[in-house]
Amino acid sequence: MKFNPNYFVIAGWLIDGSNCKVQKDVVLEISGEKVSGIHVAEPVFLDYIRSQKQRVFDYSKDTVLPALIDNHVHLSLAGTTNPEIRQNQLSQHQSLSKVYRRICTHLNLHCDYGIAAVRDAGDFRGFVQAFVAAKSKCLPASIRLQFCGKGWHNTGRYGRMIGCAVKRNTALASEIENSKELCGGWVKIVNSGLNSLVQFGQETAPQFSRADLRAAVQTAISRGLRVMVHANGKIPVRLAIEAGCHSIEHGFFMGQSNLKRMADKQITWIPTATTMAALIQKGSISAKAADIAKRTLNHQLKQLRLAREYGVPVGLGTDSGSIGEDHGKAVWQEMQLYRSAGFGLGETVKSASAVNAKLLQANDIGTLRTGKQAAFIIISGGPRDILNDPQRSKIVATDGVLYRDNSNIMNDC
Ligand SMILES: [Zn+2]
Repeated sequence: MKFNPNYFVIAGWLIDGSNCKVQKDVVLEISGEKVSGIHVAEPVFLDYIRSQKQRVFDYSKDTVLPALIDNHVHLSLAGTTNPEIRQNQLSQHQSLSKVYRRICTHLNLHCDYGIAAVRDAGDFRGFVQAFVAAKSKCLPASIRLQFCGKGWHNTGRYGRMIGCAVKRNTALASEIENSKELCGGWVKIVNSGLNSLVQFGQETAPQFSRADLRAAVQTAISRGLRVMVHANGKIPVRLAIEAGCHSIEHGFFMGQSNLKRMADKQITWIPTATTMAALIQKGSISAKAADIAKRTLNHQLKQLRLAREYGVPVGLGTDSGSIGEDHGKAVWQEMQLYRSAGFGLGETVKSASAVNAKLLQANDIGTLRTGKQAAFIIISGGPRDILNDPQRSKIVATDGVLYRDNSNIMNDC
């Protein structure tokens, strides 16, 4: 045996994101920014690498996961429950430097929670886009960012907070065709309203016709962009699926037939279930509204169970920046909800890593296998409890470098 890696990590348990298995007693070999080998932690092998004076980090009582991805965030907003602060963050008159600082803070929070990539799902002034253009040097090196800029909604319908309205007598496809601002990989279309907290399961009409959506998706694809559609309810989701979108965002009350359609077409679903959990726990809402939110959450968890059964590619996104949804932490809360919907631990991690990476076409992250980026998380303890405490101390590996609380721990050894 001959090795020339930078270091080895002995992992008590490894969930590599590629399948649903939890592997026991594994050694990761890291060379530069890449995983250069995965080995069984047999005593003879461990003796050998130690005898070769190789650098070995022993986490044999801990669990290693690939770095995670949040495929639905709003970086320009904090998950604050304070109405005044929220109003300020939604103001047209706030200074760009303040917004940029907020975006930076949120990206760093994602890094702290072991998140290697995020997809921003829109804001009303294209803040994230402007941030990337003006402040690319402030982007943490360890996080990848895809974004849609301003989302598109129909005049007089929901969506003002996350985008802009299609101009009167103008086709959605023309807006996409003529937009000079698209550069983050995605177009966001809002095709329904929000969940009602007054009447359980109330569905809203679609914002766009089948023909409009189809033309919009084709135009986006012709510009090298992918399409995410905010859609709740049977008809808005169905039209988005039939138009050939790449992901359905939220999908509350979409129904079994749409889940089967998504499984057939392998369209990714981002359920954002934790939005309802956050409203129940932290939102200043009436008891009746909280009860409707609770029933809505339970309905979404039932849909998640069906999605698993039908084989829908279930990714994971949190809607961080919504009320009570803190950047970074919310990913771990959403994973807990997947577990309560019957997803196994390995399946849950796969949704937040490999399925999400595939949606972003980021093939070098999302799984921890030989040749992939050395981007991973080490969580103290065995796999059973790793989702229970999002604040649990973590070691995050970025491009092969190990950090705890933002400090490079490799220098201490
Ligand atoms: Zn959103």
